[in-house]
Amino acid sequence: MTRKTTTALDLSREIREKKRSVRETVRETLKNIKTLDDSIGAFLSVTPEEELLAKADAIQRQIDDGSLTGPLAGVPVAVKDNICTKGLATTCASRILENFVPPYSASAVERLEAAGALVIGKTNMDEFAMGSTTETSAFKVTRNPRNPEHVPGGSSGGSCAAVAAGEVLLALGSDTGGSIRQPSAFCGVTGLKPTYGTVSRYGLIAYASSLDQIGPVAGNVADCAALLEAVAGHDPKDATSLQRPDGTSFTEACVPDVRGMKIGIPKAYLQEGLDPEVRDAILRAADTFRSLGAEVESFDLPLTEYAIPAYYLIASAEASSNLARFDGVKYGYRSPEGEGLHEMYKRTRSEGFGPEVKRRIMLGSFVLSAGYYDAYYLKALRTRALIRESYTRAFQSYDLLLAPAYPTTAPKLGVSLEDPLKMYLGDIHTVSVNLAGLPAISIPCGCDSQRLPIGMQLIGDAFMEKKIIRAAYTFEQAAGIAAERKEA
Ligand code: GLN
Repeated sequence: MTRKTTTALDLSREIREKKRSVRETVRETLKNIKTLDDSIGAFLSVTPEEELLAKADAIQRQIDDGSLTGPLAGVPVAVKDNICTKGLATTCASRILENFVPPYSASAVERLEAAGALVIGKTNMDEFAMGSTTETSAFKVTRNPRNPEHVPGGSSGGSCAAVAAGEVLLALGSDTGGSIRQPSAFCGVTGLKPTYGTVSRYGLIAYASSLDQIGPVAGNVADCAALLEAVAGHDPKDATSLQRPDGTSFTEACVPDVRGMKIGIPKAYLQEGLDPEVRDAILRAADTFRSLGAEVESFDLPLTEYAIPAYYLIASAEASSNLARFDGVKYGYRSPEGEGLHEMYKRTRSEGFGPEVKRRIMLGSFVLSAGYYDAYYLKALRTRALIRESYTRAFQSYDLLLAPAYPTTAPKLGVSLEDPLKMYLGDIHTVSVNLAGLPAISIPCGCDSQRLPIGMQLIGDAFMEKKIIRAAYTFEQAAGIAAERKEA
């Protein structure tokens, strides 16, 4: 059995059936990372081997005595470096947090560990999750495993590349405006952004608190559902965390049946600026859904053109406030130069933050300042409410929406940061989902002529993760069967 054919659910079954030990699994994963990561650059740090082996033994004992039975027991998981891990550096890929070792773990990490999963290491990302290519990381370049001259996407590029390269089977990312879905699309893996409030944000270093959600990245839909199931749940430590009306048994939704489902494609998402190869892949996916018994049609989703400006105003405004805490006093980097407190703040922040983060802090401070607050920030909030309403109306007619995850496939390394505005505009298909707090998955639906993966999104109304998972699972099964037939 090679690593490539293994899923996380198979791996944990083999562990439970004693076909392999947790120790072996950990060793194999570390070896994978060692051989592959020099050329991929997905990890910023890896948990020390002795620590992992001690944990592996403890988990093994619990599996053997029957106290740990879940589908994640013994499975290594990579974690994005903006999610706090006790005793393990958490940097947000920023110089300002280069030396930060959290004294506590994020609730999502605690849940992972309670399920018997092991945090194998921390993955590279755009600095403070601001970016679309992982190139704003202060520390290293991450390459797209499908073509190393191309970016893995961002900001959860490290997590998605680690899964795509087969270094790990599961990873956690975070999605504020597309940062799980877009790199999943670029790397050809599956990533899900949950309904806002489903996964606790406690211990997720905030970028834009009203938009941020932690979510799973995996090689297939069932693994993704299992990882989501492990990390989701109400958390009293996060005031925005929710008690979901339908519970969190997402794996139950892996049922191959979309008969009678109504799927809408927002017309605006297939227009101008969309790479024709991406459009064709989305239209082919629509045909696949039709052949599986779903009804698919296009419709007008109003206000899509306002999503980018509203998102960048709100996200930057929140970021400027959230990032005010990095001042060199409490934790993280402090500039050794400078006389007096004010000078120390100034130098620390000038030296500690990279250009993209500074740009957002400046934009955010500007739109929140007296005189501009009403004109920009308040207007953006009103637009956000209208966008939410237009989704609500859409979900009166449709079970799910089908859309591209990004207008193009992965660009080459080194071209995106030259034109930040163009990069922002690329987020057109993802950001409105965060503005409305909705769940959405990105799954592979083909490749372009350069063999770079294309991802499609399935967007649901709030709490409709199970519908999304069912449709994505059905599509994946059908696409898998089609691929097998082609090979035969
Ligand atoms: N590309 C978007 C941004 O730079 C999304 C980032 C994210 O979801 N963290 O804000």
